[in-house]
Amino acid sequence: MADFDFDVIVIGAGPGGYVAAIRAAQLGLKTACVESRETLGGTCLNVGCIPSKALLHASELYEEAHSGALAKWGVKTSGLELDLGAMHGSRLEAIKGLTGGIEFLFKKNKIEWLKGHAKFTGKDAIDVAGTAYKAKNFVIATGSSVAPLPGVEIDHEAILDSTSALELASVPETMVVIGGGVIGLELGSVWRRLGAKVVVVEYLDRILPGMDGEVRKECARIFKKQGFEIRTSTKVTGAKRGKKGVTLTVEPAAGGASETIEADVVLVSIGRKPNTEGLDLGKAGIEVNKQGQIETGHDFRTPVPGIWAIGDVIPGPMLAHKAEDEGIAVAENIAGLTGIVNHEVIPSVVYTMPEIAGVGLTEEDAKAAGYEVRTGKFPMLGNSRAKTNREGDGFVKVIADAKSDRVLGVWMIASVAGTMIAEAALAMEFGATSEDIAYTCHAHPTHSEAVKEAAMAVTGKPIHI
Ligand SMILES: Cc1cc2nc3c(=O)[nH]c(=O)nc-3n(C[C@H](O)[C@H](O)[C@H](O)COP(=O)(O)OP(=O)(O)OC[C@H]3O[C@@H](n4cnc5c(N)ncnc54)[C@H](O)[C@@H]3O)c2cc1C
Repeated sequence: MADFDFDVIVIGAGPGGYVAAIRAAQLGLKTACVESRETLGGTCLNVGCIPSKALLHASELYEEAHSGALAKWGVKTSGLELDLGAMHGSRLEAIKGLTGGIEFLFKKNKIEWLKGHAKFTGKDAIDVAGTAYKAKNFVIATGSSVAPLPGVEIDHEAILDSTSALELASVPETMVVIGGGVIGLELGSVWRRLGAKVVVVEYLDRILPGMDGEVRKECARIFKKQGFEIRTSTKVTGAKRGKKGVTLTVEPAAGGASETIEADVVLVSIGRKPNTEGLDLGKAGIEVNKQGQIETGHDFRTPVPGIWAIGDVIPGPMLAHKAEDEGIAVAENIAGLTGIVNHEVIPSVVYTMPEIAGVGLTEEDAKAAGYEVRTGKFPMLGNSRAKTNREGDGFVKVIADAKSDRVLGVWMIASVAGTMIAEAALAMEFGATSEDIAYTCHAHPTHSEAVKEAAMAVTGKPIHI
């Protein structure tokens, strides 16, 4: 240890990095974490998962009151007003509380926060704000940032990225969202609920690529019913700032005549790119792949001994919980234990209303992988709690291997799908069959009973339909 300042230095304090640092410290390793932001928590707590969910929650309450949905429950409102400043206040309060919480956990676990930008100066050394540090192990957890779209320059006023779209000071009349993925649909939902006309422009012929086909189709129908205009198979070729807003030029993805769309604001949400620039990876002997990601083995080792990588900067879904689990696993591997992440069972959730969630294989992927599949579907309208709550949109779909009955994937659209999907992930982690789920007692009345009924439907025997 004499030659080293720390056993482990984690670079980046997002959900991957801060969790890795805490677990490493819990395992008795002398640990530091470098973070260049003013606050800990990374993209997730500062400009991602948490602030977006704060605005999704607030805007949902507003829409419930504004649309008359509350009045139907006998909760009448008058003089209803939108106080966007207070909404942003709640968002900032959530960020402050949670990022401060990580700082507390760092102190509690005696993790040193090295403030500043880290860059490698060798295989076992970094520089942070002019100070050199040596460590036996480095964990690169530098995350990702917004992917740019050529021809559409983000100015954070009228042409926004996800961060500036969280901070709009007034509700735009019209918003064009470029990219029909999770972030675009979530932030589009926020501003639509608050009064904006939202148009989603997607290059592919579908929104939410990667999700189960039936789920995608039903989501598109629900989003259109909510007032979204969705233009798939459409390519954005340019954006020009005018006095009032932005003129976007679009054309069919397959080629053809171009046209223009006027909007007050445009949100560019076509994806994210790994953060490796400025790290001087070359000095550590680390290379990136064509996508700019750092490749690792299943234990999160890079080819350079003592250097590990996790989270958005490595291949796999860019999700906070995937990064967190990798954070725990990498620290355990560094400590000589066996840290494993089952990448086959990583749930993904879209926090719109209703929520959309899935884990494991889609029906299309299962068939492409050579499985003979049996599926069971159960509509939320058949679920007593969802129907009572007027949350009847959506369904649960269980995809099982026809031969063994093992569950290969579970997909759902339901008001609380993000919570319900945990059961499916746990079942799959334990190698459950659809019968295992069908014969597990589920509390009544809960939305989760729809998971049980969808599992029963795999063998054609649901009760409530
Ligand atoms: C709007 C939005 C909403 C999202 N919603 C969800 C959601 O609901 N659920 C979900 O699972 N995921 C969501 N995500 C994705 C999620 O935020 C990321 O997958 C997650 O934060 C990745 O964690 P990470 O630890 O790999 O990296 P990050 O959270 O990106 O953290 C990396 C940190 O490293 C720091 N850093 C980078 N380079 C250096 C350096 N050289 N020196 C020092 N520090 C450095 C950065 O400042 C950053 O704080 C959302 C993302 C966005 C943008």
